[in-house]
Amino acid sequence: MRVLVTGAAGFIGAHVCERLLARGDTVLGLDALERAPGDVALRRSRLARLSGTRGFTFLAGDLTDAARLHEAFALARPEGVVHLAARVGVRAPDEEAPAYADTNVTGFVRVLEGCREAKVAHLVYASSSSVYGAATPAPFREDAPVDQPLNLYGATKRANELMAHAYSHLHRLPTSGLRFFTVYGPWGRPDMAPLLFLRALARGEPLVLHAEGRMRRDFTFVDDVAEAVLRVLDRPPRLTSEGPPHRLLNVGHGEPVALGDFVGLLERHWGTKARVTSVPAGAAEMASTWADPSRLERETGFRPRVSVDEGVARLVAWYREWTGVARGT
Ligand code: NAD
Repeated sequence: MRVLVTGAAGFIGAHVCERLLARGDTVLGLDALERAPGDVALRRSRLARLSGTRGFTFLAGDLTDAARLHEAFALARPEGVVHLAARVGVRAPDEEAPAYADTNVTGFVRVLEGCREAKVAHLVYASSSSVYGAATPAPFREDAPVDQPLNLYGATKRANELMAHAYSHLHRLPTSGLRFFTVYGPWGRPDMAPLLFLRALARGEPLVLHAEGRMRRDFTFVDDVAEAVLRVLDRPPRLTSEGPPHRLLNVGHGEPVALGDFVGLLERHWGTKARVTSVPAGAAEMASTWADPSRLERETGFRPRVSVDEGVARLVAWYREWTGVARGT
């Protein structure tokens, strides 16, 4: 299959590209690289692992640049699109709100337009567990009400789901929105808790824990997430009497873990005790996230399966190799 992957230099994007290439697909990866905030060196390292792989082409480009996106579609001639590029993070500074909307909302419409024009067979796009609100009954099911997001990022992801539904309805464009739950693993995001914690542990610095570690997250290992993306990509939804070819799927492990317990696992695998500083939880934070992954399993035969213990062991092994720090002391 010819696949256009946006956000290809990102954490999940690089893992998805690797898997697509390993099975012989042709991939055009698009990413804004240094034009997006975050760790550019890490993005370049992820890309370096992909470049040179047969079937892979990279195009540096921003979703807010309509001409560049058009060029990406023309070059890729995609049968499938995996859209992962986004402004990420639930704690968006207020002054960055317009930039979130530019990339996550206007950029998303451009991707939808590109898919419509190119008659793409399936668009798989990243939504988020952040669409669920504080009042959602746990475990979160896809049919739960999602009209009370706690942060702008979650609101943009919900907007994506609604826009994808409209395009599927109007243009019969098959679309699948994946609600990812706290993804972690090798080549992960330095702004997210797993790597923030690990870095503090490795440097012997205080580790900042919200709400005394009682918040719970449904940590989902990145290999499981990449596998889920491919399984979904291969199975576009169909137009039925019940509605347009659009669906929403949780991609989560289904076993929430308290952040304090996650730190405990990191300590065990790293080999040192953390120095913990506790701070109150922010208003943008959910107290708990918990996926019901049964719809994904029903539709694809797959459910995330890497245990948090194994996932943390693999994260720590990668971190040692990546940083060259042999082990905790
Ligand atoms: P990431 O930040 O590592 O990757 C996103 C990539 O998008 C980056 O490489 C960045 O350079 C690129 N990008 C940002 N703005 C861009 C723009 N305007 N044009 C082109 N490229 C741009 O994030 P990730 O963790 O790999 O997340 C991938 C997707 O999954 C995102 O849509 C994110 O919202 C979603 N998601 C992630 C998680 C998680 O736990 N990691 C959870 C829920 C949802």
